[in-house]
Amino acid sequence: MMEHIHDMIIIGGGPGGYTAALYAARAGMDAVVLEMLSAGGQMALTQQIENYPGIDLIDGFELGEKMKQIAEGFGAKTEYAEVYSTDLTAYPKIVNTSEGTFYAQTVVIATGANPRELGLNGEASLVGRGVSYCASCDGMFFRGKTVCVVGGGNTAAAEAVTLSRIAEKVYLIHRRDELRATKIYHDQLEKLENVEFCWNSEIDDFIVDGKVKGVKLKNTKTGEICELPCDGVFISIGRKPASEVFASQVETDEGGYIIADESTRTNIRGVYAVGDVRTKALRQVVTACSDGATCVHYAEEYLAEK
Ligand code: NAP
Repeated sequence: MMEHIHDMIIIGGGPGGYTAALYAARAGMDAVVLEMLSAGGQMALTQQIENYPGIDLIDGFELGEKMKQIAEGFGAKTEYAEVYSTDLTAYPKIVNTSEGTFYAQTVVIATGANPRELGLNGEASLVGRGVSYCASCDGMFFRGKTVCVVGGGNTAAAEAVTLSRIAEKVYLIHRRDELRATKIYHDQLEKLENVEFCWNSEIDDFIVDGKVKGVKLKNTKTGEICELPCDGVFISIGRKPASEVFASQVETDEGGYIIADESTRTNIRGVYAVGDVRTKALRQVVTACSDGATCVHYAEEYLAEK
C-alpha cells in the first residue's frame, strides 16, 4: 500500500517553519511540520522579543507556541520526529525520521542555526554550570557576579551590553585587537564602566571546581597565559546552520548555509530553505516569517506546473 504523500513537509518548527505551515494550510495544502522538541526554534530561547511588529514585548517560547497553534488552527499538522536522512530528488520526496518515513511533493528546510562552540575540553559538560551561549536566557543567573563574553561580533557586543546591566563585571574577550561589531556598539561598550576588553585573547581552558571558577586566557600574539577568575562564560562566536542532513543534496556555501535567494528556492526543484539556515543578509524572526510565506508562493507555483 502506498504511503500518504503530503503536499508539503516542513522540517523545523521555528518562525519560518510555522509561517510556511500557516500559509500552506490556508492555501489548502496538506502540510506537516516535523519538529524535534518544541515550537519556536532558537526564538524559544529568547526571553524577550521586542522587534516583532505589532507585538509589544513577548517571550520567544510563547510566540513560538502561538505560531504553532494558529497554523494548526488552519489545519497544519505537527509530528515530533528527528530527521535522519532525506532523498529530495526522488518522487515523492522522502524524509526518514525517528518516527518513520514521510513522503511529500515539496519540502521546506527550516532547521535554523545553532550557536558555534569553542571546542574546548569540558565545554559541553559545563553548560548550565557556568558556560552559556545566550545572555538573555541565562544572564539572570549571574546577577552581581563576574562574567566573560567571548567574541567580537555584533552578538558578542550585544550580549556584553545586556550582561553589563546584570553582572557586576563583564570581560569581553576577543582574539584580535578590534571588534568586528559595528562602531555604535564599540562606543556604547567603552562608556560602560563595568565592561573591560581583553584584546588579543582567547580562552585556553576553563578553571573548574564543580562549576566554572575562571578561565585561562592565552595572548594570541605572545602565547602568554594568565588566569582570570569569573563565574560565567558566554560564548558568542557566531552560529552554524543545521544543514548537515541535507548537505549531500542541496548546495551550501562555505559556512554551511543553504544557498537560496529571496525566493527561498534551492538547487532542487520543490525544495525550499527558509529562515536562518539559508544564505541571507539579516537573520531575524521577521525575515524567517517572510521566507515562510514566500516559499509557499513558489511551492504552489511548482505544484500547479507539475
Ligand atoms: P559574527 O559576526 O560572525 O562574529 C563572530 C565573532 O566571533 C567574530 O568576532 C570572530 O572573530 C569571533 N570568533 C569566531 N570564531 C572564534 C573562535 N573559535 N574563537 C574566538 N573567537 C571567534 O557572528 P555574530 O556576532 O553572531 O553575528 C552574526 C550576524 O548577525 C552578523 O551578520 C551580525 O551583524 C548579525 N547581528 C546583528 C545584530 C544587530 O544588532 N544589528 C545583533 C546580533 C547579530 P573575528 O572578528 O576575529 O573573526
